[in-house]
Amino acid sequence: MIARTAPSVHTTSWQQLLRDAIRTPDELFHALGLEGHPMAEQISAHQEFPVVVPAPYLARIERGNPEDPLLLQVLPDVAEMQLTEGYNSDPLSERDANPLPGLIHKYHNRVLLTLASHCAINCRYCFRRHFPYKENAPGRQQWLDVLEYIRSRPEIDEVIYSGGEPLAVNDQRLAWLSQQLSGIPHLKRLRIHTRMPIAIPQRVNQELRQWISASRLQVVMVIHCNHPNELDTDTVNACKLLQRDGVTLLNQSVLLRGINDNVSTLIELSERLFAAGISPYYLHLLDKVQGAAHFDIERHQAIALIDEMRTRCSGYLVPALAQENAGMKSKTVLG
Ligand code: SF4
Repeated sequence: MIARTAPSVHTTSWQQLLRDAIRTPDELFHALGLEGHPMAEQISAHQEFPVVVPAPYLARIERGNPEDPLLLQVLPDVAEMQLTEGYNSDPLSERDANPLPGLIHKYHNRVLLTLASHCAINCRYCFRRHFPYKENAPGRQQWLDVLEYIRSRPEIDEVIYSGGEPLAVNDQRLAWLSQQLSGIPHLKRLRIHTRMPIAIPQRVNQELRQWISASRLQVVMVIHCNHPNELDTDTVNACKLLQRDGVTLLNQSVLLRGINDNVSTLIELSERLFAAGISPYYLHLLDKVQGAAHFDIERHQAIALIDEMRTRCSGYLVPALAQENAGMKSKTVLG
């Protein structure tokens, strides 16, 4: 393995930070001073779903701590290779709601566009870890078909940029698509589902802010943050810029065994999100994707956690505990 010099996260472009992301378990162990740790043997899952960890996220992982809650979200585990009953490669049956490449239409008023086939960070519990991205990589003509699909359905009032990581797409393409969507009269909102402000906060740059500000649509950014340690000064500053541009900021987390499955961590996460201007929105039960069963929490335990949270903090800091079930017309809110 070749040791690399870590790039400065403050002077490097987001594209370079993404290109330079750690992409092998060996590099990750080396960067964290964990060479020789028994965990270094448990890397076979990397072949199925590669490691991707960018420098800004790496900087928040404690060196030498194999139990760091951020590390456990990105480190392949031998448990991922076990087949578990009740878990499958498409837990939300999204392939049944995929009428056009790049478009998923599950709910009445909104559609989701899979803009990118890759992420700036690979989360081991990802419910789209087996998603057929190759079949969902539209060219320009197919994007025109997607736009026509939306244009011909007046009940659609919201479009969601998703992925992979939608903000891994360059701003020129995002600006073009957003401009096209702004021209569809019945659309009201553009929602962006992203983990980029956590993975590479430098992504919130002038070009991104320009096309967001230019949109006629109300822009809602749903950030994906699971643990208070994921919020650092760069992320908070990026969020403040987005707020200044009129973007509504919400957060969705996944409840993960050994990472955020205790009340203190969940409260600290909500407190820090709210202080950064981000409303805690959803706490999801894990989608039962093959390879992620070791992260799952029993439903009754999740409900007990959220009930205790309610007794210890203000209501607006308690996210809705939600579960998505394949084929249902909305998420189910629990507790
Ligand atoms: S950022 Fe989101 S889509 Fe990408 S790997 Fe993580 S959970 Fe999956």
